[in-house]
Amino acid sequence: MFRDTGYKYAAMITIQHISKAYKNVQAITDISLEVQKGELFGLIGPDGAGKTTLMRILMTLLIQDKGTATMNGFDVIKDYKKIRNMVGYMPGRFSLYQDLTVEENLNFFATVFKTTVAENYELIRDIYIQIEPFKNRLAGKLSGGMKQKLALSCALIHKPEILILDEPTTGVDAVSRKEFWEMLKNLQQKGITILVSTPYMDEATLCNRVALMQKGKVLDIDTPRNLVEGYTRKLYAIRSNDMHRLILDLRSYEKTDSAYAFGQYLHVTGKDDEVEATEFENYLLKKDHHELQVFDIAPTIEDVFMELLREVE
Ligand code: ADP
Repeated sequence: MFRDTGYKYAAMITIQHISKAYKNVQAITDISLEVQKGELFGLIGPDGAGKTTLMRILMTLLIQDKGTATMNGFDVIKDYKKIRNMVGYMPGRFSLYQDLTVEENLNFFATVFKTTVAENYELIRDIYIQIEPFKNRLAGKLSGGMKQKLALSCALIHKPEILILDEPTTGVDAVSRKEFWEMLKNLQQKGITILVSTPYMDEATLCNRVALMQKGKVLDIDTPRNLVEGYTRKLYAIRSNDMHRLILDLRSYEKTDSAYAFGQYLHVTGKDDEVEATEFENYLLKKDHHELQVFDIAPTIEDVFMELLREVE
């Protein structure tokens, strides 16, 4: 399953057979993966997949039940102090102090790491410059996009070698999401290794490699491109005047293998890849669907993910 993707550099993060349960909830099970130096690596999966648990173990905030993990060669249990100084972390819910101003938040995080904003300004300049006009505003009064930029500036203030970002773009508008990914690419170019989690499938394509996660397990790890190229099934996009009835009709058709909503269309596969578009079309016309569209479509990473989910369920 873990194919060779051409990364031959030193591993910056290693995770071997990590499992963790909270009382009777098994949060993650036997996860192994490596993130190479300078890589932008994505943990992709829905709510409850185990992304936060894994990140909190790497951040030394939680101790695993089984397995080992290292960050730049340091063990997450034994060497936790070294790791905390070397890694920048942006937790899922913003870690900012809501009743401190933008500038006070930044100064606070700099002081915690025994440094100053001036000393590290170069690294955060491109990001901080965008929120500097609001430096006297309370963090609690910032928009989601601005909070995100401030949280990233705070995570960078001690010049970390590794950045761990837990769903940084969740709940942020589309423009800020795009800007955020551009900031990550710039930080990557400065040599920072980045592990980022997201529930947004479209963001997977912005990573060098991704781990697709579900219910505490890793389903596959690869470059987004290899994952998509590995999907060889024939896929159709279908829509009609009645999308609700369309999905029910398609799911009860004996030649349908899978049908799920994907934006304005349903994505549909046949029981075998010989099922032609005209067969779906004729069947749906008989079922009295109007404004029918059926056409071949190239898979996206979301289709790959849906297929993997079906294999494990
Ligand atoms: P994600 O970040 O992908 O949403 P989490 O790591 O937060 O996933 O959660 C993984 C699983 O562990 C979920 O089933 C979640 O409900 C459970 N879980 C997370 N934190 C706790 C906790 N403190 N106590 C009990 N169960 C938890």
